[in-house]
Amino acid sequence: MGKVAVAAAVVCVAAVSAAAVVVVRHRMRNSGKWTKALDILKEFDDKCQTPISKLRQVADAMTVEMHAGLASDGGSKLKMLISYVDNLPTGDETGIFYALDLGGTNFRVLRVKLGGVENVKKEFQEVSIPPNLMIGNCEDLFDFIAGELAKFVATEGEDMQIPAGTQRELGFTFSFPVKQSSIAGGTLVRWTKGFNIEDAVGQDVVEELTKAMERVGLDMRVSALVNDTVGTLAGGRYSDPDVIAAVILGTGTNAAYVERANAIPKWQGLLPKSGEMVINMEWGNFRSSHLPLTEYDESLDNDSLNPGEQIYEKMISGMYLGEIVRRVLLKMAVEAEFFGDTVPSKLEKPFILRTPDMSAMHHDSTPDLKVVATKLKDILEISNTSLKMRKVIVELCEIVATRGARLSAAGILGILKKTGRDTIKEGEENQKSVIAMDGGLFEHYTKFRNSMQNTMDELLGEEASKNVIIKLSNDGSGLGAALLAASHSQYREYIEST
Ligand code: ADP
Ligand code: MG
Repeated sequence: MGKVAVAAAVVCVAAVSAAAVVVVRHRMRNSGKWTKALDILKEFDDKCQTPISKLRQVADAMTVEMHAGLASDGGSKLKMLISYVDNLPTGDETGIFYALDLGGTNFRVLRVKLGGVENVKKEFQEVSIPPNLMIGNCEDLFDFIAGELAKFVATEGEDMQIPAGTQRELGFTFSFPVKQSSIAGGTLVRWTKGFNIEDAVGQDVVEELTKAMERVGLDMRVSALVNDTVGTLAGGRYSDPDVIAAVILGTGTNAAYVERANAIPKWQGLLPKSGEMVINMEWGNFRSSHLPLTEYDESLDNDSLNPGEQIYEKMISGMYLGEIVRRVLLKMAVEAEFFGDTVPSKLEKPFILRTPDMSAMHHDSTPDLKVVATKLKDILEISNTSLKMRKVIVELCEIVATRGARLSAAGILGILKKTGRDTIKEGEENQKSVIAMDGGLFEHYTKFRNSMQNTMDELLGEEASKNVIIKLSNDGSGLGAALLAASHSQYREYIEST
């Protein structure tokens, strides 16, 4: 080899090794970033842990707060609202009734003909609420609702006509905290779940709806005002006498249950004949030092329309789960360049990742996680993800959903404890406790639902868990509201005597 050739070879080797060094450095930097991303995930996972011991503490705290909220108004974060429902449906209700369900992204109108449990005819329509009305003014919102209701009434068929000379009656499911003054009256305490209409707070929502119905020329009486949890409880009880509580896991979360009237110190009315009263817990506002809160929950809360409120709801419900995932991913993108050296701009947009999309990614069963890839591309405009990265995202969904599901199970254990149904008592070996469930999160997020059921079984133990049944009561709330309108009908005496 001549001198020149040798020199060329040396240069060549040097060039190759320089390139190799660049590649290695690049890999090291990448693996450093990868480690950092996994650290963020790991730290989040650690903070989200909900071992059984912790869940028991949460359940006990729930029971304590239930007592406090029943003792006095303002005695607890849990409002423990008195529903004025002291008689749940028996199955004997008859007649044609309307129901209206307002409480989240959609509202529903429903017409039912009641003729016994095996003979219910239902017709309904679902309308989405224009987002501007959710943060506008009271009159516009109620005019819109009354208008849609009037349109639905106009579709009444021959067999759905009420007797001549009578007035149509409605059960109004209004799923926000309301301080009731009677079965058909109550004032709005505050908004939740993305609604914020200032001039409606403190107003009687039945009066507001009645005025709006008058404005659109609809003659209808609001005979019952109920929360969706109370409606679900009533709807569930109609076909199953063992239903003792209802839990909603949808956009938000809440629960109602049947309490002994003499265990409600703040109840100042007459003791009902049944001895019972349905309590709307407003459990979404529960908070406790035992809740596994993370920095992401704290920042989500700070940036929300209702900071400091609905902390339990913000860890559990459909409105928030996808948003928690987004916040963790954003941190991974910013601090660990998880998606490359620029932060995907869509990822910075609050609430862009919805829980149904999170659920679709979490349930992705394709070997190469195609669904995850598609969601990332369509929603966040992130492409070229590796399988390894997509696995991390599924893992993140698992952490967030599992925490929410296990915390909901702990809440239910709190109710069972309060009502003495968490263990099997002598002589009550066959007493079943059925929890009527509703809401899109519970209905559609299979891994969430399964995790909740497994946690419930784990918390109760083999024996007691046989007697506690978690049951989907699909749109029980609409039927329940109609049933409560029936049992509080202005024509009740007449119907009962004929
Ligand atoms: P609302 O709570 O508004 O009355 P729903 O009970 O229908 O209404 O619940 C809707 C919520 O359920 C949505 O906001 C969403 O968070 C959640 N949800 C709906 N579909 C799914 C799904 N496939 N996977 C997970 N969550 C879902
Ligand atoms: Mg609902």
